[in-house]
Amino acid sequence: MKKHSYRAVEAFRGADKTIRIVGHRGARGVFPENTMIGFKSTIEMGINLLEFDVVLCADGVPVITHNHALHVPTFKHVGGDFIDHEPKVLDLTWSQLQCFEVGRLDSSTQYGQRFPDQLQFAGIKVPKLDELLGHVANLSENNVYLMLEIKSDPNHVNNDIFRKKLVSEVTKRVRHFDLINQTLLHSFDWRILEECKSSAPDFPTSFLTQINHNPADVGEDSSLSVGPNIKNYGDHIPDKVFEKGGSLWCPNVQDITPTGLKRAKNLGLVTAVWTVNTVEEIDRMIEYGVDAIVTDYPGRVQQRLAVNGYNW
Ligand code: MG
Repeated sequence: MKKHSYRAVEAFRGADKTIRIVGHRGARGVFPENTMIGFKSTIEMGINLLEFDVVLCADGVPVITHNHALHVPTFKHVGGDFIDHEPKVLDLTWSQLQCFEVGRLDSSTQYGQRFPDQLQFAGIKVPKLDELLGHVANLSENNVYLMLEIKSDPNHVNNDIFRKKLVSEVTKRVRHFDLINQTLLHSFDWRILEECKSSAPDFPTSFLTQINHNPADVGEDSSLSVGPNIKNYGDHIPDKVFEKGGSLWCPNVQDITPTGLKRAKNLGLVTAVWTVNTVEEIDRMIEYGVDAIVTDYPGRVQQRLAVNGYNW
């Protein structure tokens, strides 16, 4: 069962009394999500595993933002109000995207109310993938690892040409910055991951799964529609990930079971669970012994790990 060993995969693998912490969208509970100030600050806080989301804009530039359309609770007109409609990122050029700021949350929205402790900034723009890659490549140590989520547009999920272009643009940028050894290609869309395996086999792949919508995800775009139907796989989802050549299995926190986790471990997969934010969920993941916890609150996870005698 031993598979090719990737350095980026091993960075996410836990060990005895060690569970890794992955900052979700940087560290969304603390800093504005998917922003350079968030990523830089999270790295400076000592969190060296980062999850973030990549989509293409109209001129083919990979940018870091979660939704396929601008998100009303997090996008403002530069120097003005929060937006009131949501154009698609794919319909905006890079320079048109510069007309929006993403450093604040609209606290009148349910989504905004979920992150009352998030720092707020003026003048923050959607970053290009290149900005984060350049920052990580220029750090003095090669010890920051990227869980790079390739978002699959539900409108293009069956478009082979679009899928190839998306994977090609993303992997080209990572190669340019010589960060293959520090990057996982991560997606809900297993066809995207198949494309990664075929066109960029030197990258490890990370398979996101979610069986049902999580009611905690208020105000979020769901990616349920772009993944395979896994409802009947039960605790055998890791076997499917292994068959597809995956290195990581990333189940939603409401789906992970001790049996599924054991199967994944026996297959040599790394299991990174998302998005684990409450103390109850964090403690349950520690009890199960997952490899990595993807969280909006890295400090909260550190404290629960410390109390339980774990390192990260
Ligand atoms: Mg993501």
